[in-house]
Amino acid sequence: MKQSLRLGRVAGVPVGVHWSVLVIAVLIGVSLGSVVLPEAVPGRPAALYAVTAAVTAVLFLGSLLAHELAHALVARWRGLEVRSITLWLLGGVAELEDEAPTPRHELETAAAGPLTSLACAVLSFAAAVLLPGPDLAVAALTWLALMNALLGVFNLLPGAPLDGGRVLHALVWRATRSRAKADRAAAIGGQTLGWALIAFGVVEIFVLSWTGGLWMLLIGWFLVGAARSELVAATARHGLGGVPVREVMTAPPEVAPAWLTVAAFAARTALHSHQTAFVVIDFEGRPIGYVSLDALAALPPGFRGTTRISDLARPVPPENVVGPDEEASILLTKRPLPGQVVAFVADGGHVVGLVTAADLGRMLRQAMLRQAA
Ligand SMILES: [Zn+2]
Repeated sequence: MKQSLRLGRVAGVPVGVHWSVLVIAVLIGVSLGSVVLPEAVPGRPAALYAVTAAVTAVLFLGSLLAHELAHALVARWRGLEVRSITLWLLGGVAELEDEAPTPRHELETAAAGPLTSLACAVLSFAAAVLLPGPDLAVAALTWLALMNALLGVFNLLPGAPLDGGRVLHALVWRATRSRAKADRAAAIGGQTLGWALIAFGVVEIFVLSWTGGLWMLLIGWFLVGAARSELVAATARHGLGGVPVREVMTAPPEVAPAWLTVAAFAARTALHSHQTAFVVIDFEGRPIGYVSLDALAALPPGFRGTTRISDLARPVPPENVVGPDEEASILLTKRPLPGQVVAFVADGGHVVGLVTAADLGRMLRQAMLRQAA
């Protein structure tokens, strides 16, 4: 999840928001100010509704942040690195550097978020009951309590990628001592929940109102997709355990000398190669960039005799360079470059291999085959 706006650091963890949070904040503010609060406490000045709604929306985002911070702080307390926290349309994401090492770590980290939401609900409700404040503040606090209770309960539903899915994962992991079984249980839970929400949404659209039903459909659809991709990623990660990049890469790679013309390079290499991209090297054999088969083919024929490979070479982003002995699972986190190159494999300043999207696809299927055995 890309952070569009950095808010700063809390306990050393970078905290940011995605642009979609602005949308949700405005939606919440408008619905509170124009519908929820005027219905609960009628007959107040419009400006008072607006101010109360704005403050409540900010408090709600604060409670979302508290939920994610709880995940992050418990994870860190247990020695797991937390990469970042980002708030977005459907709540928040606390990105952890690695998977939990034990079921207990996972259980504590996962449960911390929803428990914090439930605590926020109890606090808001207590404040609404105890404070002898104006009715508008009481209505806002009651709404805050309800939303946090909903957030806590929804996130505890037992299916990946919800927090409850992680709780289920930890429990099955502890009971069976098998991560693979826990992965499957959490994924099946997530897909079942997703389809249940979709069915519920369809019924709601026909029986009640279509807007509420549409939300259910969207969230259900999101859950089904996310649960499926989590299962694929988890299976790959575990099936790839201990497999180094060198076993996956295409090696030795054919290279493109920078000084050749496109026509010469096509005749010499590109027309006979199985590669979809080539590392461009200088006279000393040092890599200075890469060129994709797409870029070569896109050059009009009239220019191929005069354009040199160096003119088409693009720089290789440092994040797409890996070492041959790194774990192959790291390749799953790379964004492919043009020419379907996932990574260049470098060893001591020399390019020793190339990993393409096709290599990655083969590797994933092999990982699943290894798991099934
Ligand atoms: Zn959570």
